Amino acid sequence: MSYTMKVLEKVIQKNPNEPEFHQAVTETLTALQPYVDAHPEYERAGILERLCEPERVIIFRVPWVDDSGKVRINKGYRVQFNSAIGPYKGGLRFHPSVCLSIIKFLGFEQVLKNSLTGQPIGGGKGGSDFDPKGKSDREIMAFCQSFMTELFRHIGEDTDVPAGDIGVGEREIGFLYGQYKRLTNSCKGVLTGKGLSYGGSLIRTQATGYGLVYLIDEMLRQHGESFENKTVVVSGSGNVAIYAVEKAQQLGAKVVAMSDSDGFVYDADGIDIKIVKEIKEEKRGRISEYTDYKQSAVYTRGKGIWSIKCDIALPCATQNELDENDAEKLVKNGCFVVGEGANMPATIEATKVFLQNRVLFVPGKAANAGGVAVSALEMSQNSMRTSWTFEKVDRKLREIMTNIYNNISSVAKEVGQEDNFIVGANIAAFKKVADAMLKQGIV
Ligand code: GLU
Repeated sequence: MSYTMKVLEKVIQKNPNEPEFHQAVTETLTALQPYVDAHPEYERAGILERLCEPERVIIFRVPWVDDSGKVRINKGYRVQFNSAIGPYKGGLRFHPSVCLSIIKFLGFEQVLKNSLTGQPIGGGKGGSDFDPKGKSDREIMAFCQSFMTELFRHIGEDTDVPAGDIGVGEREIGFLYGQYKRLTNSCKGVLTGKGLSYGGSLIRTQATGYGLVYLIDEMLRQHGESFENKTVVVSGSGNVAIYAVEKAQQLGAKVVAMSDSDGFVYDADGIDIKIVKEIKEEKRGRISEYTDYKQSAVYTRGKGIWSIKCDIALPCATQNELDENDAEKLVKNGCFVVGEGANMPATIEATKVFLQNRVLFVPGKAANAGGVAVSALEMSQNSMRTSWTFEKVDRKLREIMTNIYNNISSVAKEVGQEDNFIVGANIAAFKKVADAMLKQGIV
């Protein structure tokens, strides 16, 4: 058995009951296998074993009091996965599904994604099984303050810089930052995704969605295509989805559907993003409310968004939201581009369907790297004690996404797998991390 497959088997055996982590490692190691096996120096230095073992895992109790006076306890996590190319960097997810497996899969992905950004950031991830849905602002604040009361001792501007993810947006980052400052008596760029009035960066809110569309736009351009007049389906209706829709529309696409965990809305005239922003950003409501604003749109409960005919699919909701059957439906309906705005939204079987049918598929670690890339730009601005204009950050984001595309596509070509961006992204990302690890000795 090859070195790569031996490591994969060991990882699965040594980390039982972590299916999402197994899935992320399986996808990456399978893509890396021929490349790693052709370079015995990686085996000699135990690079894959080290890549799959987090440098540090922190699990802690988060006690807080709800509005009825009841004491509540959640689990808090921070997985500091790999610091070979810079401080641990990655978001915090607050969602009832959060467990060690999910945080480890996200942390593992983050290491490779952050490598692709070209910015000096390592990878980490954290979060809690706390469910922000239906909680009052006071409850959110109480939870965030308690979470930070433990987390603060593990993070730092040059050590580990958390940000947002599902369930953690500007409001939560504000409460977390306020508590960090109170505990440490210092104003540092220790979190990203901050509000603009206290060190946040312009474009950070839009960055993941815009970045996704910038990368896909560059890929389309290099294949003699564009977003102009394309029918697009975007799943999700959170921060990533909203700004992916906005940018795709600016580039001339017609986005006909969006969703949330309850169902999806289809608008044959094209989604009115102003309505979605009002529902989601102002009212923190559900996508079903879209039809209150626009009666001609159709809301369907449950799954099924991938049955809608489209040219381009952008899954921007969550892991494993698009399976083999969905992939087959998309292919049958003529979809020729899939870009992952979420982390690992397509199952391994779904990605196989895309590759077999020559769908241009870009995995999340490349396609959704714009968010963390602008987080790195926020860190730079904080260190320089300055703030750049919207245009400047937007231009840098576009450059970064174009570079990522060129990098993953040329690596795919080099290994004889043109347009296989799973292989391209994993090898390109791995090379930089592995090189840094080799040079830093056995640590
Ligand atoms: N949670 C985002 C991601 O999955 C952003 C992380 C960050 O900005 O640090 O990449």
